[in-house]
Amino acid sequence: MLGKLLAVSMLPLAVEACGNKAPNVAAPGTPAPTGSVLPRPATPEDALRRLQEGNQRFVAGTPLHPNQTVELRQQLTGSQRPFAAVLGCSDSRTSPELAMDAGIGDLFVCRVAGNIAAPADTASLLYAQAALGSEVLLVLGHDDCGAVKTAIDVADGKTSAGEFAPLTDPIQPAVAEARRTGATGAALLHEAIAANVRLVVAALPGTSAGLSQAVQAGKLTIRGGVLTLSTGKIDLLG
Ligand SMILES: [Zn+2]
Repeated sequence: MLGKLLAVSMLPLAVEACGNKAPNVAAPGTPAPTGSVLPRPATPEDALRRLQEGNQRFVAGTPLHPNQTVELRQQLTGSQRPFAAVLGCSDSRTSPELAMDAGIGDLFVCRVAGNIAAPADTASLLYAQAALGSEVLLVLGHDDCGAVKTAIDVADGKTSAGEFAPLTDPIQPAVAEARRTGATGAALLHEAIAANVRLVVAALPGTSAGLSQAVQAGKLTIRGGVLTLSTGKIDLLG
């Protein structure tokens, strides 16, 4: 682990050197051209802002496709230092790298249907923070989520969970919370998707002492967001 941490600590300089050699590095204060190597965000707030800026480019249809140069790819073969960890849904329409216009080595991503935090996912997210230095953890839900739809159908008795129970059971508290709003139909699904993200965000520090300590120390920000498929926009919750 020590060797890995040393390698991680040396990486910013290495990436900087790599970036300086690349012809398409954005000069300070100028708009970054497509294919730029962007400097790593310095704080959790900067990291969250980077995700939001990337999403704005995705929404506008003007992605930079940053951090995808051959030089950077080669530089990152021995180590990584992703600035953000993402717990997203497996849904084929919700790729975090696309939705937030990120590149190689930027995001440490766990994807599972319904963006639930199973123990292995929580441990993976802790690894991203503790070993790799990720400064923001984004739980990313989305509209039209099949896992949440199925959880509602199970709750309504329209279907049985069967082999999908490991996905739908953890979503039931969100369905119950959404139902308390009085919503039905599409509105209930909308509420349940948001509630599921909120509950996962709230639960993560409680299920991982390491994540809790990182938040307390100001090293990590945990946020939730919901991606609207039609616009591509990610709305942060709370
Ligand atoms: Zn989904």
